[in-house]
Amino acid sequence: MKAFVTGGAGFIGSHLTDSLIEMGADVHVIDNLSSGEQGFLNPSATLHQIDITDPTIIELIADHKPDYIFHLAAQADVKQSTAFPSEDLKTNLTGTVNLLEGCRKSPVKKFVFASTSAVYGNNPSKKLTEQSPVKPISFYGSSKAAAEMYIKLYSEFFSIPYSILRYGNVYGPRQTAKGEGGVIAVFLEKLMKNERLKVNGDGRQTRDFIYVQDIVDANIAASLHKGNDTFHISTGATTSILELIDLLKELHPSPIEYDHSEDRIGDIKHSCLTNTKAKKILKWKPAHSIMEGLSKTYTSR
Ligand code: NAD
Repeated sequence: MKAFVTGGAGFIGSHLTDSLIEMGADVHVIDNLSSGEQGFLNPSATLHQIDITDPTIIELIADHKPDYIFHLAAQADVKQSTAFPSEDLKTNLTGTVNLLEGCRKSPVKKFVFASTSAVYGNNPSKKLTEQSPVKPISFYGSSKAAAEMYIKLYSEFFSIPYSILRYGNVYGPRQTAKGEGGVIAVFLEKLMKNERLKVNGDGRQTRDFIYVQDIVDANIAASLHKGNDTFHISTGATTSILELIDLLKELHPSPIEYDHSEDRIGDIKHSCLTNTKAKKILKWKPAHSIMEGLSKTYTSR
C-alpha cells in the first residue's frame, strides 16, 4: 500500500507517517519543511521537499500513483492568516486543489483531509454536530471551509473518494510552541523554562483537546471507510484553560504561576465537537483521557 502524507514532517503528519510505516505502508511525505522538522520524519519515509502550491506536485502524484493521500500540510496559524490572508489562501486552497488535480490524473482509494473546528467560528451551541452551520471567524477557518467545498465538488465531478476530518484541539509529543502552537505545547515549553504562563482573556474559554495518536487512528479508520463523508475527530468533552492549568499542576513538581492578557482576535470562546458520527460509522473512539494524553506529552519533553 502506497500512501502520500502531506505535512508528514509536521506534528500530526509525522505521527501518522510512523503508524502507516508500522503497518507496512510505503510512505511518501510531501513537505516544504516550513514548520515541520526533518528530525520528526520517519527514516523509512521518502521525503519530497516540495511546496504543495507548486503544480509539479500533480505530476508527482501521477508518477507515483498513491493508493491514499492524507492531506495535512497547511498554513495552520490563525495570526499568520490574519496578517497574510493571500498566503494562507494559497497554501490551504491552491495547495489542496493541486493535490485534487493529482487525484484526477491518478485515482486514489481515499483522499483524507485535515480540517478543523475553526470552520464553525463562534457558535454558542454547547456541542456542535457535523450539520452545524459553517461560519468561520478567521481567514484560516475560511480557507479550510473553502478547501472542504472544493474536495466535495471534485468528488462529485471526478469521483474522488474523500473523508473530511474536522479535528478538535490536537496535542501531544512533537507539537512545538512555535507560531500558533497549541496552548498545551506553549504552556509545557514555558514550564520547562520555569517561566510564568500567559492566559489569554479570563481563561474560562474551553477547548476539546484530543491526543495526537487518537487523530492518527481516526485518519487510518477514515481511509478504510467506504463512502464520502465529514466527521468530527474529537473527544466531545471540554476543558477550560484554567482547568488545564489545574491538571498540569498534578504533573509538574514546581508551583505554576500565570498572568492574564487580552483576548485574541479570531479566537473562539468555546469549542466542543460531538464525535457520535465517527464512533458509529468509523468504529473509532478516542483512547486517551486528557490526563493520560497530558502525562504522555509531559514526559516526552
Ligand atoms: P504543523 O505545522 O506541525 O504541520 C504542517 C506541516 O505542513 C509542516 O510539516 C509544514 O512544514 C508543512 N507545510 C506547510 N505548508 C506547506 C506547503 N505549502 N507545502 C508543503 N508543506 C507544507 O501542523 P499540525 O498541527 O501538525 O497540523 C496538521 C494539519 O492538521 C493542518 O492541516 C491543520 O490545519 C490541521 N489541524 C490541526 C489542529 C491542531 O490542533 N494541531 C487542529 C485542527 C486541524
